[in-house]
Amino acid sequence: VLIEELGIAFITMHFLTPSIYYVVALGWLRSNKRSGDKTELSVDPPLVSVIIPTYNEAKAIIQKLNNVYSQDYPRDRFEVIIVDSGSTDRTVELIHEWIKGHDGINVRVIEEGARMGKMHALNTALKYAKGDIIVITDADSAWTQDSLRNAVTWLMTDGVGAVSCNKIPRTDKDVEAEYRSYYGLLRIAESRKFSSAIFHGELAAYRRDLLEKIGGFPMDVGADDSHTAGLISMLGYRAIIPENVRCIEYVPSKGYWMWRIRRAQHLIQHFLRILKYMVTNGKELPRDYRQIMLYESYLHLINPWLFVIGFVLVIISAMHGAIIPIVLILIGMVLLAIRFFRTWITTQVILVVASIRNLWNKE
Ligand code: GDP
Ligand code: MN
Repeated sequence: VLIEELGIAFITMHFLTPSIYYVVALGWLRSNKRSGDKTELSVDPPLVSVIIPTYNEAKAIIQKLNNVYSQDYPRDRFEVIIVDSGSTDRTVELIHEWIKGHDGINVRVIEEGARMGKMHALNTALKYAKGDIIVITDADSAWTQDSLRNAVTWLMTDGVGAVSCNKIPRTDKDVEAEYRSYYGLLRIAESRKFSSAIFHGELAAYRRDLLEKIGGFPMDVGADDSHTAGLISMLGYRAIIPENVRCIEYVPSKGYWMWRIRRAQHLIQHFLRILKYMVTNGKELPRDYRQIMLYESYLHLINPWLFVIGFVLVIISAMHGAIIPIVLILIGMVLLAIRFFRTWITTQVILVVASIRNLWNKE
């Protein structure tokens, strides 16, 4: 009987907390009016450094450079810095060919001798960057034409220290599409409240002075973009995802599940680290940020376990003939017909697997 009650309690808790957070987030959306979609660039556009880290991106890099080239931002007000860490395919060759064919844009290639990870590469690029605004973008991603302009405009707003993008998925996997729309709403709502708990490598723009204040890009946490945004938020600046900054992520078709697990591992590392700061000097952190991060770290670190443990307990008591657990399992099976429910369950399992894998492989 205890097993049965615990199981039911865990499952109920598991679904209740995120529902409450969702309602809270809807409230934030409603009560914090957006300060207008900012599309007017200031008279004097700031100098921007767009940094693209590459490791074996021959397949993506040309498309990426064309995408950056066609941005609606004065070409003499931004530079592109590509930092490559010993790619073994034709990445660097292709970039040089592209540069020869394109005038009026300042593209610079920095070659690191050995591969020491994306973060190391970004810190190398930072030394060469001249911009007051630093924009990081993964090679396997794309922007809409107004992404850079809108991101920069938001970044020029008082109190904003970092800006990232809304993901528009490009994939056949419907799991991914659903994941984006639900979490996309949370990102925007959190941004209206204070800061988004999560940032995206497709477009992560930072004020350079703040990057310097936090000592460059953090090297010890996997979710570099989210964690950099977190460090900036903890200084009291907002790290936001406004609705008019959009980007496209190309979801890998090969190794999809491992990719999801790695991403989840990185996020878990990010939340664990922020939690640690909140415990040690929480009083100094912005209140709204603390509130967001408490919800989000609970949802990423603890809530998935309630589902998995609850599920096992419910199965055990169902096997002993308990009625409510059997009904619960039947309801669950019916709900699996709904795509969003399937996606949710998948994500919970990925988070649990990721936190276990973090014990021995933090890569
Ligand atoms: P994922 O999307 O999180 O799986 O990460 P990716 O493998 O797509 O990497 C994100 C970006 O960082 C891509 O543009 C990669 O080419 C780049 N990248 C990854 N590792 C390294 C590295 O060691 N050095 C450099 N310079 N870039 C890297
Ligand atoms: Mn990628």
